[in-house]
Amino acid sequence: MKQGTSSKRCVRAAVLVASNTPLEIRDFPLSGPEEGEVLVRVSCCTICGSDIHAFTGRRKSDFLPAIVGHEIAGVVDELGPSPPTYWSGEPIVVGDRVTFSMTASCGTCLYCARAGLPQKCVNLFKYGHTACATDRALTGGLSEYVLLVSGTSIFKIPDMISDEVAATSMCAGATLANAFEGTQDKASVVLVGMGMLGLWAIRTAIKNGFSRILCLDVNKDRLGFSRESGATDVIDVSNLEAMEVADRVSSYLGGVGADLVIEMSGTAQGVRSAFLSARTGGQLSLVGSVIPAGRIEVDPYEVVRRSLVIKGAHNYRPDHLASALRLGEDKAHHESLRRGVSKPVPLTLVDRAFQDAIEHRSHRIMVTP
Ligand SMILES: [Zn+2]
Ligand SMILES: [Zn+2]
Repeated sequence: MKQGTSSKRCVRAAVLVASNTPLEIRDFPLSGPEEGEVLVRVSCCTICGSDIHAFTGRRKSDFLPAIVGHEIAGVVDELGPSPPTYWSGEPIVVGDRVTFSMTASCGTCLYCARAGLPQKCVNLFKYGHTACATDRALTGGLSEYVLLVSGTSIFKIPDMISDEVAATSMCAGATLANAFEGTQDKASVVLVGMGMLGLWAIRTAIKNGFSRILCLDVNKDRLGFSRESGATDVIDVSNLEAMEVADRVSSYLGGVGADLVIEMSGTAQGVRSAFLSARTGGQLSLVGSVIPAGRIEVDPYEVVRRSLVIKGAHNYRPDHLASALRLGEDKAHHESLRRGVSKPVPLTLVDRAFQDAIEHRSHRIMVTP
């Protein structure tokens, strides 16, 4: 077993220095892996919506300059002293294909030990969200290597899952597994915002046995793609007020709202439509509002009288990532998800990759070192 033998090497990575400026390709000295760490050679990194928010300046990004990217698949290159095991308890072996939880947590604070929210750990570490000013810079996916710190939940990628689908499971897939949690009835689901999260949502809904899957977006191409990916109904909401959206949903579902509504657009209009589209006693899972996007007016009376359950789903627990990977092992689900990812764009053309992502040229743009 190759363990703790890293000689000094140089690693090439793309650095987001500031919003709205081209990324810089820089070389970093490789130090580590240290105690409890794992060095992973990156196979691919897919660009998530929150990376785009950082790039375009829509999101507060006080961690810059940083190697961004937190949807990563790679190969175990080297183990530090006292290496961790996989989340499953199996030993990690050099040469294994892996993905990992996008956050590392302490395991002992209130959120880790009692609240069931390790993704809100008071000592949280988040891949692709850490300044690269230090000598421990390799924490993002737009790089040749990434160092997995102690406290990271690491998963071996099953043979039948491609690198690109495994990468998207690390944020989109696992977050959707979280968003679906808590639903009792599984007849109808409304999905608002049909990017890569939406694609994972369709496949998760199918896996969970939902018979009606209504997909809402303002983009006709994305609605067409949703239908091809398993949506039972699609609604173009580009010229509809929130109440009209809810009426349309209700007419599709025989006069009631949906058992579950998942909001992934992060727009005020999308959230308002989602809020109105859940049935009495239904669940509204809010996923897309990761940056401030305007207030919506809600009379608490509407929540109480409709016995509505509202859940905010930001990031996920390690078992959600395990669940997403299990879904990806199914051939039909895998093929559908793979269609959402672009052909590889080399790291040296990372700015083009971001431009493609902004222009929605694919649900996810894949970058390879
Ligand atoms: Zn993400
Ligand atoms: Zn903690």
